[in-house]
Amino acid sequence: MVQYNEKVEQEGWWVASEGRNLWLPNGQLPYGKASDLGLNTEHAKQIGEYQGKPCWLIYHQQSTDMENVRRLLGADRQLFQLAGRGIQLAEFYRSHRWCGYCGAKMNRSEKEFACLCDQCGERYYPQIAPCIIIAIRKGRHILLAQHQRHKQPIFTVLAGFVEAGETLEECAHREVMEESGIKIKNLRYVASQPWPFPHSLMCAFTAEYDSGEIEIDPKELKSADWFDVSQLPKIPEIGTIARRLIEDTVVLCRQD
Ligand SMILES: [Zn+2]
Repeated sequence: MVQYNEKVEQEGWWVASEGRNLWLPNGQLPYGKASDLGLNTEHAKQIGEYQGKPCWLIYHQQSTDMENVRRLLGADRQLFQLAGRGIQLAEFYRSHRWCGYCGAKMNRSEKEFACLCDQCGERYYPQIAPCIIIAIRKGRHILLAQHQRHKQPIFTVLAGFVEAGETLEECAHREVMEESGIKIKNLRYVASQPWPFPHSLMCAFTAEYDSGEIEIDPKELKSADWFDVSQLPKIPEIGTIARRLIEDTVVLCRQD
């Protein structure tokens, strides 16, 4: 019970989750003592630190003001990442209550973020789905597409999930060919971003147009076209790696 009291009395950040949502009173990640915030810390688990203070994950938070972690996208990048980590872990524990091999009930590891089956000895880690995202340049133009999965009219770069037994580079070439019908060259890695919807890791690249005409895959895209970087349509919001890729490409185009 000592641990219980420690958590209650310690000031920190709280990712209080229920399903894929978290508690965001006034749109903010709550900070303070659990006792002051009225949080039940019995099963709280520390998942990191932010500004030198611990960040805890709590399951089964029942309250109003439950929201999607996307609400924090405009906040500090580190804070969004930490909240996203909490939501991904909460989902992992929620979906790994039973062993997939033998069907026995599982326990959460105390040492690491893992679930253990005492019956057959299997150990499960959070699933992370790598995804490539790529900005393609052709002179002063960038390839942007309207994706079928977006409800609002927004233009962004191409993206797709890595398949089993595929490198990131192979995935980039394949996805671009499948979705837009064009061949790319000079593929360069830029950066990555954990994307907790529900558990992707976005691996961002830039590339240059090599050959071919745009021919979209209508299952994935509504439209795709080359846009002059001085006349861009509505692009993704600040905080997304897609936005950063587009902005980087605009800078590259203007340097030439
Ligand atoms: Zn098992």
